[in-house]
Amino acid sequence: MLVLQNIEKSYDSFRLKSINFTIEEGEIIALVGESGSGKSTLLRIIAGLEQIESGDILMEGQSWKDVSTNERSIGFVFQDYALFPHLNVRDNILFAFKDKSDEVLNDLLETVGLIGYEQRMMHQLSGGEQQRVALARSLAIQPRIMLLDEPFSNLDTLLKHSVRKEIKAILESNQQTSIMVTHDLEDAYEIADRIAVLKDGELIQIDTPANLYNKPVNDYVAGLTGHYSYFENQRLRPEEIVIDASGSHQGVLIKKTFNGADYEIELKCNTAVLIANLSIDSDKNVGDYLNFSLNKR
Ligand code: ADP
Ligand code: MG
Repeated sequence: MLVLQNIEKSYDSFRLKSINFTIEEGEIIALVGESGSGKSTLLRIIAGLEQIESGDILMEGQSWKDVSTNERSIGFVFQDYALFPHLNVRDNILFAFKDKSDEVLNDLLETVGLIGYEQRMMHQLSGGEQQRVALARSLAIQPRIMLLDEPFSNLDTLLKHSVRKEIKAILESNQQTSIMVTHDLEDAYEIADRIAVLKDGELIQIDTPANLYNKPVNDYVAGLTGHYSYFENQRLRPEEIVIDASGSHQGVLIKKTFNGADYEIELKCNTAVLIANLSIDSDKNVGDYLNFSLNKR
C-alpha cells in the first residue's frame, strides 16, 4: 500500500540513508532504534512534515511528492498526547472533524472504551485514558495510515501494559495500517506484524518478530532482540545451550540470576562465556561445573 523508496534526508550531523520498505494494507509496523537513530524523522517524512532530499513515497502507486500533509490522510499520535486542556473529551476527539454527529462520536468512544467520559476535561483523565482520547481523535478522520510516536513512553509500566493491549486491539479491529515508533522491543513484539530496526539513520533489518529473533542479520539486531553468546564460532541464544549431565561440553557456573521462569546463567568454558538458562529446580551454584550440549536451531 505504502512504499518508501530510497528516502534520504540530512541534518548537520545526521543522515537517513536510503530507506526502503513497503507497508501492506492493515499491517502494523514497529520502528525501533536507539534515541537519535532517525525514527521520528522518518515518521515526519511520511506525514509530509519534513521534505526529503531524494527518493519517493508512493501511496497505492501515486507519488506523495506534491501531496500536502492534510491531503495524505494521516493520523498522528504523539507521546505527549497533544490534547487540548481547555476542551473536554468530546471536543478533543471531534476537533478536526466536520460531521460532529453523536453517532460518530459514540462509535469512537466505544472503540476506545470511553463511553460516559464525553464531558470530562483532560486533567480528569489518567495517562492511559488521555492516550485513548488522542487515538480516538486520530481515528476520527479514518486515516489511511496511523503514525504513533512512542505512544507509551509517558505511561508507567503497569499502565503501559494494559494501554498497549488496548491500542493493539483497537488498531487490529479497525484493520488500521499503522507505523509505531518505540525504543522498547517488548512493545514491538506485542503489537507489530513486522519490526523495522533503524540504527544511525540506516534500516538494518525489517522482518517478523520471530525472524528478527531467530535470524538477526548481525550482532546488533541479535542483542536488541534478546541475549546471545558466541561458542565455537556460532551465535547462540540461551535456549540453544542445553544444560544436560550427559552433554559433551563442560563449563563453570560464574553467574546466576533469577528471572522469574528460571535462572539466567553465565558459564565459562575455556575463553568463552556462554549465556544459558538453568531450571529453577537445579541446585547448582556459582563455582559448580555443568555439562551442556548445543541445540542450534
Ligand atoms: P529518534 O526519534 O530516533 O530519537 P530523530 O529522528 O528525532 O531520532 O533524530 C535523529 C537525528 O536527527 C538526531 O541526531 C537529531 O538531533 C537530528 N535532528 C532531528 N530533527 C532535526 C532538525 N529539525 N534539525 C537538525 N537536526 C535534527
Ligand atoms: Mg523520536
